[in-house]
Amino acid sequence: MNQPAPIIGISRHRIPTDGDGVTTLVAFGRCPLHCKWCLNPQCHRKPSRSVTPEELLDIVAVDDIYFQATGGGICFGGGEPALRSRFIAQFRKIAPQPWHLYIETSLAVATSHMRELLPVIDHWIIDVKDMHPATYLGYTKRPIDALLANLKILADAGLQDRCTLRIPLIPDFNTPQMQLESREALAKMGFNDFDLFNYKIK
Ligand code: SF4
Repeated sequence: MNQPAPIIGISRHRIPTDGDGVTTLVAFGRCPLHCKWCLNPQCHRKPSRSVTPEELLDIVAVDDIYFQATGGGICFGGGEPALRSRFIAQFRKIAPQPWHLYIETSLAVATSHMRELLPVIDHWIIDVKDMHPATYLGYTKRPIDALLANLKILADAGLQDRCTLRIPLIPDFNTPQMQLESREALAKMGFNDFDLFNYKIK
C-alpha cells in the first residue's frame, strides 16, 4: 500500500477551470510559502484526513465517464501539491491512462520533486506571483530561488508549451508595470501562456 497524503478538499465538475475538459480538483494540505494574502489558509492547519493514491482513485473514479468524454482529469492543488510528487507519480500508475493530470503549483519546492512530476504532469498551472526577488520574498516570506530553479528545469526540458503562468497584481506588493516585467522575464525563458489578473482581497 502506498503512503497516504493529507487532503483538505476535493471539488468535482470544474469546467473548464484547470484543464480542457471536466476536472476534479484535489487539494493537498501544507505549503512552504506564507503569502500575505493566502487564498487557502486552511492548508496551514492540520488536515482532517489523509488518503492513499488507491483510496483517492476510488473517490474520484465516480467521474471517469466525464473525464474520458471531455479530455479532462484530475487537477492537483493545495496547499502545495508539488510536495506530493511521489503520491502523484503513484496515482498516475493506477489511474486510467486517458485521464489528464494537471497541477496548480507555486514551484516553491526542492528540485528533486521535479524528477517525479515531469513524466506524469500533462499541464502545469504555475502560480508565479512576482519575478522581482525582493517583492517575492516580501510577499511569500521565502526566497525566489526554488521557483527560478524549477522554471529552468521546465524550460530546459522544452515543456514551455505545457505551462500556464499566473502573474497577479498583488495589492501593496507590486504594480501593473512589475506584472509586465515579470511576464517579460518569463517570456525570455520561452514561456508563452500567461494569465495576468488582479487579486481581489480588499
Ligand atoms: S502558495 Fe497558495 S496556499 Fe501557499 S501560502 Fe501562497 S496563497 Fe497560500
